[in-house]
Amino acid sequence: MEELIYKLKEAFDEVAPFIERHTRRVCPECQKVCCIDRHGRYDDEDLLFINSLEEQRTALPDRAETEQCRFLDENGCSLPRRLRPFRCTWYFCPPLLDSMRADRGRDYREFVERLRRLQELRRGVLAHSTGHAI
Ligand code: SF4
Ligand code: SF4
Repeated sequence: MEELIYKLKEAFDEVAPFIERHTRRVCPECQKVCCIDRHGRYDDEDLLFINSLEEQRTALPDRAETEQCRFLDENGCSLPRRLRPFRCTWYFCPPLLDSMRADRGRDYREFVERLRRLQELRRGVLAHSTGHAI
C-alpha cells in the first residue's frame, strides 16, 4: 500500500503542471468561477481516498453551496492537489479544455495518459481500502 500511495502522490505531481499552465491562461478571464463551495465538498469516495492517505478530512460544509469555496484564497486553491475533491482534478470546463487541446499535441497526449494513470492508481487505493474493486 505504501508504494501505491507514493506512486499516487507522484502521479498527482505529474498532472499538475499541465493543468496549471492552462488554468493560469484561462481562469483569470473567467466570468463564472467554478470554485464555489458545492464543488469544493468531498464526496464519500474522496473521504475514503484521503483518509487512506492518512490525511483526515471531514465532509462538513460550513457555508452556502454557491459561496466561494472554503479552500480558495487570494493565491488560488490552498490545498495540495491530492487533498482536493477529485473532481477538481478531472473536470475541465470547455474553455479550459479548448486551451489544453490547442497546446502541443505531444504535451496534450502525455497529459491524457498521465491523467488515465492517476485515475487507475486512485482506483487501486480505493479498492485496497474497501477490499473490493471500484
Ligand atoms: S476552470 Fe473554467 S470555470 Fe473554473 S475558473 Fe477556470 S475558466 Fe472558470
Ligand atoms: S477545492 Fe480548490 S480547486 Fe476545488 S473547488 Fe475548492 S478552491 Fe477550487
